[in-house]
Amino acid sequence: MRFVTAALSDQTFRAEAASWLEKQAPATRAGIEAAATDREHFDAGRAWQRLLFDAGWAGIAWPTEYGGRGATPAQATIFAEEQSRFGVSAGFVASTIGMVGPVLLRHGDEAQRARYLRPLLRADETWCQLFSEPSAGSDLANLATRAERYGDEFVVNGQKVWTSNALLCDFAILLTRTNLDAPKHHGITFLLLDLRTPGVEVRPLRQITGASHFNEVFFTDVRVPVENVVGEIDGGWAPARSVLAHEAAVIGGGNGAALGYTALAALARARP
Ligand SMILES: Cc1cc2nc3c(=O)[nH]c(=O)nc-3n(C[C@H](O)[C@H](O)[C@H](O)COP(=O)(O)OP(=O)(O)OC[C@H]3O[C@@H](n4cnc5c(N)ncnc54)[C@H](O)[C@@H]3O)c2cc1C
Repeated sequence: MRFVTAALSDQTFRAEAASWLEKQAPATRAGIEAAATDREHFDAGRAWQRLLFDAGWAGIAWPTEYGGRGATPAQATIFAEEQSRFGVSAGFVASTIGMVGPVLLRHGDEAQRARYLRPLLRADETWCQLFSEPSAGSDLANLATRAERYGDEFVVNGQKVWTSNALLCDFAILLTRTNLDAPKHHGITFLLLDLRTPGVEVRPLRQITGASHFNEVFFTDVRVPVENVVGEIDGGWAPARSVLAHEAAVIGGGNGAALGYTALAALARARP
């Protein structure tokens, strides 16, 4: 069910958010704190996102036709502030919603928005980011994963690395090289990839802690329909930059990251 809400003053909005969070957040907070593995953490965030969506607190500044609340960006910030005060967050799921949602709203076509935005916002389908490669990190436009067009499909071959939570996700935003002759920023195409597509292989990287947060992802003749291009063919650098800008905003915006800083500060105080 979606909520059709009359515009609220910021003060009323904050009070309603705080009152809802007071009832709902403690159980989720306990679940997040008890999560021992990446999967448990991911699932706790996903469950919280569904609760938010079903109660009308997800996609606060998104248009209502895609499941959002249609409120103001200021109220989205107010909700994030209140949420972090209660020590809860949808974590990784929230960060990818904050990256994939805006890029589809701005650069996607209507069919893509209608297909992907609502399940993204409710975390019924989860997404990861296939950008970095062994030779394309800080210099992202150096990426070499190839996508060659055959009729209505691209055939993708290559490798990504450092893909957070790829093993746990359903879809990915994928940057590919489609034009070898153009200057490097002008030969990139932005694709939406179903991770169950044959030829996609996810290999976990084991960290020193024993966790496997990151993955390598290999592509062998992976077929992606042309309708999955976001923006223009060879024009993928524009939506890619949009993702990177929103990623920075999500990380810096207190939506979950603050929980880590609080824990780090507590650890630092405990071990002077
Ligand atoms: C927690 C975390 C999660 C991540 N999740 C994802 C993900 O989900 N998907 C994804 O695609 N990527 C992900 N990444 C990868 C991240 O985007 C890349 O690590 C980042 O772009 C840096 O690339 P690199 O590690 O290859 O380092 P490099 O680019 O090799 O840089 C190494 C060092 O060299 C310096 N350097 C690089 N170029 C220059 C230069 N021209 N002049 C001077 N110094 C330079 C850098 O500042 C750095 O100190 C994640 C990274 C982290 C830390």
